[in-house]
Amino acid sequence: MPARILEGTKIASDIRSEVAAEVKTMTAAGVRPGLAVILVGHNPASEIYVRGKVKACEEAGVYSEQHTPPETATTAELLALVEDLNRRDEIDGILVQLPLPPHVDSKRILMAVDPAKDVDGFHPVNVGFLSTQRPGLVPCTPAGIIEILKRSNIPIAGQEAVVVGRSDIVGKPAAMLLLNANATVTVCHSKTHDLPGVCRRADILIAAIGRAGMITRDFVKPGATVIDVGMNKVTDAAEFQRLFGGGWAGKSASNARREETFRSKGSTLAGDVHPEVAEVAGALTLVPGGVGPLTIAMLMYNTVKAAKLRRGSRVPELSRV
Ligand code: NDP
Repeated sequence: MPARILEGTKIASDIRSEVAAEVKTMTAAGVRPGLAVILVGHNPASEIYVRGKVKACEEAGVYSEQHTPPETATTAELLALVEDLNRRDEIDGILVQLPLPPHVDSKRILMAVDPAKDVDGFHPVNVGFLSTQRPGLVPCTPAGIIEILKRSNIPIAGQEAVVVGRSDIVGKPAAMLLLNANATVTVCHSKTHDLPGVCRRADILIAAIGRAGMITRDFVKPGATVIDVGMNKVTDAAEFQRLFGGGWAGKSASNARREETFRSKGSTLAGDVHPEVAEVAGALTLVPGGVGPLTIAMLMYNTVKAAKLRRGSRVPELSRV
C-alpha cells in the first residue's frame, strides 16, 4: 500500500489561520506583532523568499517592514541597522535574510540580533534555550517538522528517530526537538558508516541533506514515517528520469504534471527522498508541498511568540497559539 501523504500545505494553512486569529486579539488589545526583514543586495532567490514572508505577514495581520541596504553595505552599517531595530519596541522579530554578501561578517550580524527578537532561532542564546528546554525561539523549519508529526498524529515519544544532516539550521535543532519530545535520536552526516543500515532503524526518518533523491527504498524500514526537508533544483534530464521516470506507486498524475513543467521550464524541485520510498514508507511528506510551507507558517508563529515573550505573556502550545 502506498504511503499516507502528510499534508504540509494544509497544516501550514491551519497554523497561519490560528496565528491570524491570535494577532487579531493582540492587535485589539493594543499590541500588534511586528517583523522587520533585512534583505541586502539583489539575490533573486532571497527576493522571492522575502516576498513570501512579507505576504504571509499581510495575511496574518502582522506589521512588517523591509530594509534593503545595497550590496555594498558594510558590516558596520548593517550592525547599526540591527541595533536600531533592537531598540524599537514595535519590532518583535528581526529576520536577516541569508546569504549576506561575502565581505559582510554574517556571524557578527546574526549575533547582534537581540535574542528576544531572533525569530529564526539561530542566536546561541536560543540554541541554549532549546537544548535546556527553556522557553525561547526555535528555528522555523525544524519546528515545522514537529508540527507535521504532531498534527498528523504520528507518535514521537519512545520512537527511534534518525536525522540525516547536522546543520545548525535544520539537522541539529530537529534532532534536539525530537529528543525533547522523548524520541531516541541518532544524527547522521557525511562521515556516517552504513548510512542505509542506520536509517533502516528509524521509525521516523528526517532527510535534511541537500541531495536529490538520495534516500532510496533501501534506507527505509517498512511503515516508517519519512520527512523530506530537501529542496534541490534538478535540471539534468537523466537525473529527472532517475527520480521521476520509474513505474513505482509514487508515479501519479502529479508526476505527469511535473514532467510537463520540467520540459517547459528545464528544471523541477526535488526532495532528498526518492519517490520510490512511497512504496515502503507508512507516511511521507512530498516536495513541494511538505515541509516547505511550514517554514513561513512557523516564522509567523515565532513573531507572535516573540511579541508575547517580550511582554512576559504566556505562550500557549502552538495548536492554541
Ligand atoms: P547543509 O548543507 O548545511 O547540511 C547538509 C547536511 O547533510 C550536512 O550535515 C552534511 O554532512 C549532510 N550530508 C551531505 N551529504 C551527505 C551524504 N552523502 N551522506 C550523509 N550526510 C550527508 O544543508 P541544510 O541543512 O541547510 O539543508 C538541507 C536541505 O534542506 C537542503 O536541500 C535545503 O535546501 C533544504 N532546506 C529546506 C528548507 C525548507 O523550508 N523546506 C529550509 C532549509 C533547508 P556533513 O556535516 O558531514 O557535511
